[in-house]
Amino acid sequence: MRIKNRYFILILILSIFITSFYLLYHLDKRFNPKPITFNIDENKPTIALTFDDGPNSSYTQNILDVLYEYNVPATFFICGKNIEGNEKLIKQMIASGHELGNHTYNHPDLTTLSNAEIINEFSLTQEKLYEANFDYTLKYVRPPYGRYDENIQNLYQEQLILWQIDSGDWENINEIDIINNVVESVKHGDIIVFHDDNNTTSKALKNIIIKLKDEGYQFTTVTNLLQLLHI
Ligand SMILES: [Zn+2]
Repeated sequence: MRIKNRYFILILILSIFITSFYLLYHLDKRFNPKPITFNIDENKPTIALTFDDGPNSSYTQNILDVLYEYNVPATFFICGKNIEGNEKLIKQMIASGHELGNHTYNHPDLTTLSNAEIINEFSLTQEKLYEANFDYTLKYVRPPYGRYDENIQNLYQEQLILWQIDSGDWENINEIDIINNVVESVKHGDIIVFHDDNNTTSKALKNIIIKLKDEGYQFTTVTNLLQLLHI
């Protein structure tokens, strides 16, 4: 009986030790992330993962954890209205070496707005970021719902970034469909759109990264991808 108790205490102490180590390790990774380092091999197929509509207090952390685990840099197209309250997530994105793009303040259909309103949507997001003490200039603009017209194209020209592959995660589809939407169509040079505002994307993301790495794909930010493609 005594020996059993000793084993029990030993296992308990070990469990506490392992749990504490695990928690400390993950908390340290979240609060003091090291930049994700990656070398681009010009001979390998390369793609850029992008995440729209965040940062989201419930789901963005899961995405960041998966990206960190697999050493994958990404580009987050953030909405200005989501900056307040999610500063820690933004800090983590920047510290981890991810890229941040501008996805408007309120997420409107830009084709229904005047030029002044369109410009305001993007400049307000940048202002909010500065106000939150981030010395970071957002790269690119991405129109909500991918809706833009000639007028918007003329306003932003090469700053306008859409995507080649839509993961379809915004349609409330299951993990398998999101994975298939991406892995069945992807090719070198593609920009893929996801959304970090739901629980399914992070689960699908893990499998997508594993499958595509197996197929020889490497991941980079939009800026590095465009440089690689000499656009
Ligand atoms: Zn969006």
